[in-house]
Amino acid sequence: MFEDDTVLVARARQIPLQQVRTSWLTAAGIQLVVRRDDLVDAAQSGNKYYKLFFNLQQAQLTGSRRIISFGGAWSNHLYALAAAATEAGLEVQAIVRGEMPARLSACLQDVQRWGGGLTFVSRTAYGRKHLPEQLAQWVGQGGTTLVVPEGGANLAGAAGMRCLGRALEEQLEGRPAQICLAAGTGTSLAGVAAGVSGRRPVLGFPVLRAGLREELPLASRVHELVTQLGAKSANWRLLWGFHGGGYGRKPKAALWHFWQDFEAETGLLLDPVYTLKLFWGIYSLVQLGYWPRGTCLVAIHTGGFQGRRGFDCP
Ligand SMILES: *Cc1c(COP(=O)(O)O)cnc(C)c1O
Repeated sequence: MFEDDTVLVARARQIPLQQVRTSWLTAAGIQLVVRRDDLVDAAQSGNKYYKLFFNLQQAQLTGSRRIISFGGAWSNHLYALAAAATEAGLEVQAIVRGEMPARLSACLQDVQRWGGGLTFVSRTAYGRKHLPEQLAQWVGQGGTTLVVPEGGANLAGAAGMRCLGRALEEQLEGRPAQICLAAGTGTSLAGVAAGVSGRRPVLGFPVLRAGLREELPLASRVHELVTQLGAKSANWRLLWGFHGGGYGRKPKAALWHFWQDFEAETGLLLDPVYTLKLFWGIYSLVQLGYWPRGTCLVAIHTGGFQGRRGFDCP
């Protein structure tokens, strides 16, 4: 499935690889190249552009006029979906976790401005969103609604990211480099791992706190997607421990200073929830001597800048 990927691979091939320099990289003799997927689209930032591509195509193929999906008040996924789907002439209904606040987040205001509908649901109901009887309440009657899971975390989403992996493998022209990216649902990690050469290391940096309740499900989800994509081999790994206080939490002092210094030194902006944790993880591992001198790392900048509006940023 989703094998006709010429259009998306061609788009992904246009994304520049940018070498960045910092004092700590130079000291450790590590080369860091950033794949600027944050530039792929203004609203469908970074990985969401790829994750939505085949999902929107599915809506068209199945004759769905309406898409429903899920997320929190600052969801990059809902933001990207609302922009992309309304542009494609599709109706969007966002199921938002938690009661309706007195004041909508800037993210949800944009979703609404682009024509997306908002349904606020209790955390209990939100937790049951995978149950058919719960889903039926939101989908309503008629067979013309496509349901896209939270974060675009499905096979279509992973297949989109596989196109990024394929394009990147071509751009690297056989040079040895390890790929690094942030992992939320792990869909992007799975797609990239399936797209690059089966020997190339692909390292996912989870933004969630490590724990048995998180680690096993995330690893098995990535494994399942890689398998479903039919990859003959894939060399991926999850590197836990760089959540910097937890998902969506305000960064602690050390992380905040790193954020400030990194942006000042490289001129790259980071989002607080995902890419900040990715580069914090890379920085921490470089300090620990995890990679030998001369290693080349390619970090995928998955975008997410709209989320900066909900945070105190450097
Ligand atoms: C959604 C998102 C991720 C996580 O992607 P997964 O495929 O869920 O792992 C990473 N970075 C940014 C900026 C995102 O918005």
